[in-house]
Amino acid sequence: MRKSTLLVLHDITRLKSLEVVRRDFVANVSHELRTPLTIIKGFAETLVEDHATLPVETRARFLDKIVNNAQRLHVLVEDLLELSRLESQSEQIQPSVQSLQQLLEEMLEPYRLRLNPEGQVLKLDFDERVGEFAFDRFRIQQVFDNLIENGFRYAPDFTLLAVSVRYDDANDLIQCTVADDGPGIPAKDVPHIFERFYRVDKGRSRDSGGTGLGLSIIKHIVQQHGGSVSVESEAGQGAAFHFSLPYVQS
Ligand code: ADP
Repeated sequence: MRKSTLLVLHDITRLKSLEVVRRDFVANVSHELRTPLTIIKGFAETLVEDHATLPVETRARFLDKIVNNAQRLHVLVEDLLELSRLESQSEQIQPSVQSLQQLLEEMLEPYRLRLNPEGQVLKLDFDERVGEFAFDRFRIQQVFDNLIENGFRYAPDFTLLAVSVRYDDANDLIQCTVADDGPGIPAKDVPHIFERFYRVDKGRSRDSGGTGLGLSIIKHIVQQHGGSVSVESEAGQGAAFHFSLPYVQS
């Protein structure tokens, strides 16, 4: 009888790379949690130990730091839960046919109150050819809210914040854009901007309450709708965030 050997090879490249992604993610999350926790712990311990001798104003300042950093932890955990919900199969989007124009007109009102009347405009340019179509109202509102908030946060001196919705008949897609004329994003950061925890200026973004998760949440929501996201920006030239949605009318 001839002896033979059976060799089974499994390609584990993908498993390995998933393992690296998971490890990086855990490292990033731990790092992000550590800073506010360290601050809370430090100030709380000082308050407990030196309570009797600390001047009232110092105590108030320490308590303020504790509250701010607890708030930061809260936002971070909420954003992480949001990402994990979006990634889980059970929590899919719930599209229904409705008017995006109506949603945007309602949504933009409160932002108009935040404009500087001296020289800031928030404009909506809505293509008349776009009728009602299927999308998840809560999620798409979240996408626009995030992008508009980012305009106010990272381009606070913009003169024009423009929201536009166009019909791309060649591809039967709705093309949405939120663009500002603020400081823009340096070329080296542009390819990474949708990555989790990616921030151009870590310190400044954190101080303004950013977690670096907003754009990755947006990317997930748009992908779940079957669309894609992109950004165009040059330092000093403003930033334009684009996303597409399939034009499904039934
Ligand atoms: P965060 O949740 O911290 O706001 P995002 O994922 O929404 O983070 O954004 C990632 C980074 O992209 C921000 O830290 C900021 O540096 C940059 N960014 C986002 N929007 C703009 C914009 N409109 N102009 C300039 N930079 C922006």
